[in-house]
Parts: sequence; C-alpha cells; structure tokens
Amino acid sequence: MSQDANCIFCKIVAGQIPSRKVYEDDDIFAFHDIAPWAPVHILLIPKRHIVSMAHVQPEDEALIGRMLGLAPKLALQEGARPYPEGGFRIVTNTGKEGGQEVHHLHFHVMGGPRPWLRG
Ligand code: 5GP
Ligand code: ZN
Repeated sequence: MSQDANCIFCKIVAGQIPSRKVYEDDDIFAFHDIAPWAPVHILLIPKRHIVSMAHVQPEDEALIGRMLGLAPKLALQEGARPYPEGGFRIVTNTGKEGGQEVHHLHFHVMGGPRPWLRG
C-alpha cells in the first residue's frame, strides 16, 4: 500500500494521529473532520495515498465508485436525515485554486439541519 510519510491523512490511516473513525475496510477509511462546517461532516479517503482527483487513474475508478456508493450510507449513519427533506453534500477540493489543503484525496460528506457554518 503506497503511503506518504509526511501526509497527515496517511498518518490517520496508520493510527499515528488519532481520529474519530466512522468506517474502515481494506481500501477505504472515513472519520470526522476536525473542524466541521456542518452538523455531520466526515472525510472519506482511500487508504492508499492518491494525491487528488486530478491523480485518479483508470485502475482507481472502481475504488472511487465504491467510495461514492458508501457516502450516502455513512451520511445517514452519522446523523444526516433521509432524502428529500434531509440529504447531504459531497465536496472534493482539488488543487490550489480548488481549495485543497490536504493533498491526499478526500471526499467531504456533509449534512444535518441548517444553517451550516459554511457551504
Ligand atoms: P481540504 O481543504 O483539503 O479540502 O480539506 C481538508 C480537511 O481536513 C479540512 O476540512 C480540515 O478540517 C481537515 N483536517 C485537517 N487536519 C485534520 C486532522 O488532523 N484530523 C481531522 N479529523 N481532520 C483534519
Ligand atoms: Zn496520504
């Protein structure tokens, strides 16, 4: 599994930095964002160090599909209300102008009653 020794999310996957985990399997890890914008705000990441959506290769597409398929389940599990009254938002910041601060691919999954702090 390729990891980056200086990457904060690789360290979270390895348990070197604590996190509030909500899901884990062989390839995927999910945990609460440390600075939530919304009542429910989790980060869904591949365990493997993929830098951003701009770095996704054809062989990663099944993994990305599985992550997106998990997002609605985790949103509900963590307290988002069901569609259509509830729902959730998936955001993936990519690159500097895309607002990406942590360079390990992650999907923000946000939900819960409004108003939200951001978004
Ligand atoms: P980006 O701006 O790259 O899309 O989002 C990075 C997110 O990672 C931010 O929402 C930030 O709050 C979150 N984050 C940064 N460092 C940590 C950390 O050590 N633990 C957790 N749980 N979240 C973090
Ligand atoms: Zn990483």
